[in-house]
Amino acid sequence: MTAQRRLESSLTDLNNPELLNRLSLDLEGESAQTILEWAATTLSPRVTFGTGFGLEGCVLIDLIARHELAVDIFTLDTGLFFQETYQLWSDLEKRYGVVIRGVRSALSVEEQNQELGDKLWEHQSAKCCEIRKVIPLQKELKNFSGWVSAIRRDQSPTRADAPILSYDERFDLVKVNPLVAWTKEDVWSYARKNDVPFNPLHLQGYPSIGCLPCTSEVRPGEDDRAGRWRGSNKTECGIHAAPKKQKALPVLNRQVSEGGS
Ligand code: SF4
Repeated sequence: MTAQRRLESSLTDLNNPELLNRLSLDLEGESAQTILEWAATTLSPRVTFGTGFGLEGCVLIDLIARHELAVDIFTLDTGLFFQETYQLWSDLEKRYGVVIRGVRSALSVEEQNQELGDKLWEHQSAKCCEIRKVIPLQKELKNFSGWVSAIRRDQSPTRADAPILSYDERFDLVKVNPLVAWTKEDVWSYARKNDVPFNPLHLQGYPSIGCLPCTSEVRPGEDDRAGRWRGSNKTECGIHAAPKKQKALPVLNRQVSEGGS
């Protein structure tokens, strides 16, 4: 099968893990716009982009809105964002005329404090991330066949081998990483050229921004994600696990047979 034929594959075709791998390789070197267009065409209407409002996420929102792509957008609102992040959320919606849905934990921060103790993030950060991010994401992604993420290979060793397309076993869908081959400079260059709104904390020593209690300033020479969960072994919140060996994609067949949304 030619690369062009593979790019024209349907959602049902993607049940073949070998085809998904080949497609991922075909898309290497293609622009983020082309990858997003492929996702919007092939995975629509069940494709969503989950953003944490990092600079990469802002760039993807610009691309989705600029090219009017049929990609849903949401954020995992932990209730613990920086004020600057909440402001950016509002600014992006106004600037691009999009709705960025807030997906929240069943437990408010106050309820979590009452049930599991104050500042759970200080003594059980994995549990806190599970409650506030992973479980809400699991529930949310049940509605989708494709999940766009903003990760880049050069962000951290755990992301160094991320492909453009993969089957995410945990969430049972196709994961799409349009910016995976971009460098940090590529992202800043695009953002500046296109006047993309971004979090002002990026200019104040915070290259990677998560929840307020778990994000600190990064010192010169440190890894961009060194300020996340500083002082612990934790490097990821658990939503971007390394892709495992490809295997059959049962959810795709199920959702196709259900006939769409
Ligand atoms: Fe909790 Fe910190 Fe994880 Fe946010 S990043 S969900 S505050 S542990």
